[in-house]
Amino acid sequence: MSLIVQKFGGTSVGSVEKIQHAATRVIQEIQNGHQVVVVVSAMGKTTDDLIRLAAGITDSPNKRDMDMLLTTGEQMTISLLSMALQSKGCSSVSMTGWQAGIQTEAVHSKARITHIETARMKEELEKGKVVVVAGFQGMDENFEITTLGRGGSDTTAVALASALSAQRCDIFTDVDGVYTSDPRFIKGARKLEGISYDEMLELANLGAGVLHPRAVEYAKNHSLPLTVRSSIEEIEGTLIEEESKLEENLVVRGVAFEGDIVRMTVYGLENEVTGISAIFSVLADNHINVDIIIQSRTELNSTNLSFSIKEAELEETRSALLQNKERLGFSKIEHEAGLAKVSIVGSGMVSNPGVAAQMFEVLAEQEIAIKMISTSEIKVSTVVEMDKMIPAAQAVHDSFSLASLQPKPQLTN
Ligand code: ADP
Ligand code: ASP
Ligand code: MG
Repeated sequence: MSLIVQKFGGTSVGSVEKIQHAATRVIQEIQNGHQVVVVVSAMGKTTDDLIRLAAGITDSPNKRDMDMLLTTGEQMTISLLSMALQSKGCSSVSMTGWQAGIQTEAVHSKARITHIETARMKEELEKGKVVVVAGFQGMDENFEITTLGRGGSDTTAVALASALSAQRCDIFTDVDGVYTSDPRFIKGARKLEGISYDEMLELANLGAGVLHPRAVEYAKNHSLPLTVRSSIEEIEGTLIEEESKLEENLVVRGVAFEGDIVRMTVYGLENEVTGISAIFSVLADNHINVDIIIQSRTELNSTNLSFSIKEAELEETRSALLQNKERLGFSKIEHEAGLAKVSIVGSGMVSNPGVAAQMFEVLAEQEIAIKMISTSEIKVSTVVEMDKMIPAAQAVHDSFSLASLQPKPQLTN
């Protein structure tokens, strides 16, 4: 019997009615003859509410306690969905992340899954039950409760799907698929029928919150078909797979953006060779994600290093660097907050050298200053002022005509 993993995000389980509706979507797949594992997020904005509760007590909550608090959100939903399934005559069992065997590294607030012990889930599935698992949570080797980072329920779902060799993983959410850009902010954003793992991974890493980046990474590594679809409407979603055959003539597939970016600059690095690697080792040891990196040499022959980080990691970054100032050998650090990243992604870029130039021209026409740039074969990222983020993304989206399907290139012979 084939197994399907379904995941319902916060808005899709935001009320008792929505939980009842999610239960009917699960039962449909049971009636189609599948076994089903369901992963759920906390109801509506519960996770944000819990964070606010903690903020009412302290500015710097202990990370272990924070994980303990936040995992309660998902625990509410698993019990309610399991009750809804049973009240509709469907046999089910609710499980926390640790009951489902999800083991993670020993890091609070953004742990990676290291292993999934599937025996208990398999036993329950064999008994004909739907297994309802709390997303976003796991347990480390010391039996400490951990979380996978905001939006991490997607990763739970994909990780379970690959551990259980599921036929596919469906991510049910409040949009009916992956769009060319966030439809909540960008006029003319258009639903994509398909997108490749690599493109989706870039979009997710560059701020497209529709999928957690690690979920895409997992799906890619295990060649797992992943769909993003509406939890309300019964229509086809977007399929994420190895090579997206659809619209393959598109050069740019999507525009992603992300606010609250900080540019950190380390001045006067004494040793260009060992200094740079030592800085990034310190940041990696502190689990700080660094994005765009720019190295420059001043006329006085000293080296400066700029990199972008998320504002939420500013204090950790500052203290990690300052604590190691002597060893790293730099003169001072400075940062500029209030920035945002706007990026274009598309696998067709590799063979189209004018794409980056077109993006920079559009931003120049809008008089939007570019503070940092990074490019790869399938993306171009720019850092701009935060208040220019949406206008920049809109202008770029318009410029590449993403609102309409582009005509197929004419074949010449
Ligand atoms: P869930 O609670 O179901 O996990 P999220 O809020 O995490 O839902 O993700 C869905 C949201 O992602 C959408 O409401 C949309 O605003 C946002 N989003 C950002 N970029 C995109 C995109 N390229 N395509 C679709 N949705 C996007
Ligand atoms: N509830 C968590 C969050 O809001 C995890 C998730 O929704 O995926 O980030
Ligand atoms: Mg999400």
